[in-house]
Amino acid sequence: MKYSAANRAIVFAMMLLPTLMNAAEPIRHTIRFPNPETNYAEVEATVQTDGQPVIELMMAVWTPGSYLVRDYSGKVESEHAEAADGTPLTVRKSKKNRWAIETGGAAEVRFSYRLYCREMSVRSNWVEADFAIIVGAATFLARAEPGGALIDSQHEVRLELPENWAASHSALPVADNAYAAANFDELLDSPILAGNLAQYDFEVDGVPHSLVNLGEGSVWDGPKSAVDVEKITRAEIEFWGGTPYKNYSFLNAITESGGGLEHKNSTLVMANRWATSTRENYLKWLYLISHEFFHAWNVKRLRPVELGPFDYETEVYTTSLWVVEGLTSYYDPLIVRRAGLSTTEEYLKELSREITVLETAPARLTHGLSDSSFDAWIKYYRRSENTANSVVSYYGKGALVGLLLDVHIRKLTNDQKSLDDVMRSAYERYSGETGYTQAQFRQVVNDVAGQDVGSWIAERVDEPGELNYDEFLEWFGLRFAPAKEQKEPAPAWLGFDTRQQEGRLHVAKVQRDGPGYAGGVNAEDELLAINGYRVTPEGLADRLKAFHPGDQLSLLVSRREQIVSLAVTAGEAPGEDRWKLEADPGATEAQKARLAAWLGTD
Ligand SMILES: [Zn+2]
Repeated sequence: MKYSAANRAIVFAMMLLPTLMNAAEPIRHTIRFPNPETNYAEVEATVQTDGQPVIELMMAVWTPGSYLVRDYSGKVESEHAEAADGTPLTVRKSKKNRWAIETGGAAEVRFSYRLYCREMSVRSNWVEADFAIIVGAATFLARAEPGGALIDSQHEVRLELPENWAASHSALPVADNAYAAANFDELLDSPILAGNLAQYDFEVDGVPHSLVNLGEGSVWDGPKSAVDVEKITRAEIEFWGGTPYKNYSFLNAITESGGGLEHKNSTLVMANRWATSTRENYLKWLYLISHEFFHAWNVKRLRPVELGPFDYETEVYTTSLWVVEGLTSYYDPLIVRRAGLSTTEEYLKELSREITVLETAPARLTHGLSDSSFDAWIKYYRRSENTANSVVSYYGKGALVGLLLDVHIRKLTNDQKSLDDVMRSAYERYSGETGYTQAQFRQVVNDVAGQDVGSWIAERVDEPGELNYDEFLEWFGLRFAPAKEQKEPAPAWLGFDTRQQEGRLHVAKVQRDGPGYAGGVNAEDELLAINGYRVTPEGLADRLKAFHPGDQLSLLVSRREQIVSLAVTAGEAPGEDRWKLEADPGATEAQKARLAAWLGTD
């Protein structure tokens, strides 16, 4: 976000005369749902013109925390403007996300538009007969200098709910029956749920928290989920040493979807209604809650210098997402474990899964964490059939580098310090207005470790390549489970995934340097036959048992209607349990004690 000279003067004046700030008129937004079953909402924004002949309104093109230009204005329809007395005013688009309004000298204009709300995700809107999920960036407008910077102001939001909707909820304060946001940042950082909500309130250190379930129905176990969210909340507040907000809301949309997005005083997550009914899915939901809440500190307040103030019309680049998302991903299952909500065995299983994902992704050898972070907009958020080959995840690899860094610090300091101290120390130094640079964050690590670990970090963060887990295994007395003895000869492995499409067997993605890749198999190829015999979608797995690693195979594929024969040398699948962590039977008492100190005891 950039301020014009004129606007900076206004901000300065407001700092000198705080009473004037209250006099400034906010932009007033009213959201109506006359026909929610059509997936449309209607928005009306009342804006002061300050006597300008032309004012410009802008909508964000992306939302913080989700690094992709989403062009929210594409969902805006039937926009029109009028003066307070109802006189129609001329509106023209000045950019894909901006509207210029000729005010005709009116002191105030009403700008109205319809919004199509049917993308079920935590960074887009959804409206249907019974409820609405409203995301700030996808909904609201701010004033901007014509062709220039955002003009910040306060905002109010009123919702006119259909009769059968009981309530709405947002972390924003309520005044005069409207949500009040101090500025555009706060407005865009505060999602709203509306409909029939189940709300569970609890306090920690006198600070109110709420779990708000949308769509709880008869399947989702609301009380259980509320008890466990409170446990995670307490564990993370204890980790950081206090609450940095006045109130916090967990907005949980039980809509058979997934994902979460962090905000300063709330999070919006999505869940499957059956998640409280199966242990594995419930743990995933607890990890999600833990992850998004950890962000209330790590990124929403302790942030990379590039991630704020936001320019909502331009991509921002940072190499720090391995800290923001990677270290948060390291802590999300760890804190669930420390809060007693999972067992050591379940924690190690989750860690094994994370290691397996990284160690079977070819991109680990060619793509570094810093680059992955910088290019999030064009790589991690633009997934394709080639993503596992070309993009290393700053979530997954970032979490594992966090794990290894944690152990490294523990070892260097003779178990006096850990990554926990790094996080708290970084928060103390850099949670103010400006944020940290990569160099500053790494300096915090050096300071906690008591020595320069710059090259250790650079090797794992700035360069691609294999991670070495030996120090971690040794420190905690763990090992990767030894391979089981195979009784049968291994089946042939081709190194590509398939999917069934209209009864046909298609190649979904090809693993780099696997047998199919070497033999020229392409994504989208339709696999017809192996060694002259037809294969069906259902029969492929069995057919591969008839061949073995080293066998020369002839694959017949159809590629854009042309029949192509490909010679492929069968390989051996990487063992599924290759990265399964377990206690080393020979672990010493000292190692066991460190493991218990790290994870807590079951
Ligand atoms: Zn995250």
